[in-house]
Amino acid sequence: MTILFKNAKILTFSDDKIINGELLVKDNLIAYIGPKCTIKADKIIDCEGNLLMPGFKNAHAHTAMIFARSASDDLPLHDWLYDCIFPMEEKFIEGDIYHLTKVGILEYLSGGITSAFDMYFNPPEIVKACEEMGFREVILATSLKEPVSLVKERYINWNKKGSLISYNLGIHAEYTTPLERMKDISKLANELHAPVFLHIGETKDEVQGCVDRYGVTPLKLLDSLGMFNYGGGGFHCNYLSDEEITIAKKRNFNIVTCPASNLKLASGIAPIYKYQKAGLNIAIGTDGAASNNSLDMFKEMYLVSTLQKLTNNDASIMDGYDVLKMAVVGSAKAMGLDNCDTLSEGKYADIIMIDLSNPAMQPLNNIKKNIVYAGSKDIVKMTMINGKILYFDHKFLIDEDINQIYKKAQEITDRLKG
Ligand SMILES: [Zn+2]
Repeated sequence: MTILFKNAKILTFSDDKIINGELLVKDNLIAYIGPKCTIKADKIIDCEGNLLMPGFKNAHAHTAMIFARSASDDLPLHDWLYDCIFPMEEKFIEGDIYHLTKVGILEYLSGGITSAFDMYFNPPEIVKACEEMGFREVILATSLKEPVSLVKERYINWNKKGSLISYNLGIHAEYTTPLERMKDISKLANELHAPVFLHIGETKDEVQGCVDRYGVTPLKLLDSLGMFNYGGGGFHCNYLSDEEITIAKKRNFNIVTCPASNLKLASGIAPIYKYQKAGLNIAIGTDGAASNNSLDMFKEMYLVSTLQKLTNNDASIMDGYDVLKMAVVGSAKAMGLDNCDTLSEGKYADIIMIDLSNPAMQPLNNIKKNIVYAGSKDIVKMTMINGKILYFDHKFLIDEDINQIYKKAQEITDRLKG
């Protein structure tokens, strides 16, 4: 199957240019990008001058947590977690994660997100939902209930499972993980030459707790166990010390920032400009809908830029286009998705179309910055993953009844709340 996109503006992210031309998708790969494709395609889509670019990569998510969207708001972090979230999660039964994940995927598709780095319970159910819907997913399994032997087995098997699913090593966080488990995961990372990911530096209390327990800050502690000898990354990173920034640089440790969640839970503001100056790779995630409450990369990008301008008292920093690159290429790098980070021949066709006829995109002064500063999910006209168009003109093109997906999620949510 070949699909030719003609009359397009194309931002490949291989360089910074926007070109006018055509893009050919053959099966699940990009087969041509240039001024004029001479291959006869099975299907032709006239882009009418709209922009093609790689999809956004959501570098930190708990997709199935849509059940707690607006069911747990306006509470201090501790009460939110212990009085609302944990009691609801205790009521999960088989199949819940599978059904809930599907709603999150629909939200991703409508916002141009083509892959997520997902940390939640019951990974096989997440995999099933993603494969059925054609969504690209990087799984991070961190449950203490899963023995390290199972983690190893999944790492080896799931990373060759097919193009849509990949798997990484992780722990939930230092404060929720026994020292023995942290040592075991570090050992496994060294055996497999694998990176390790975790929540880190989200709150001041978390950092202080680690200092009280071990006498050192979390990143320093975990690095001393050899956890990041093959890289890794941290979700949130609101509070990394200068010493930890040096360690992060040395270990190619990726920073994944989630500003909306951090603001809503009053956790803090990550010093992204400082990390950027230190030369760290920066990725962007939404976190879960329980704390955000939307899974929307446009909101995150706007906050990444504007919060740094405000906190550094300098409107000239954190360029909008740099932030757009973080949401695409930076996130892809953190997630190990160098096979779909840019629009390039031979890479997976994870492509979105931005509607430049949307009033928020007019006039066309600077398309790249417009996406960050004026864009919203409204401007996403198409989402293609692995060569399949799953969303077009505000309609989902999947083989399932959307209302049934919502109905099932509502039933589960009502039970969890009851
Ligand atoms: Zn999280």
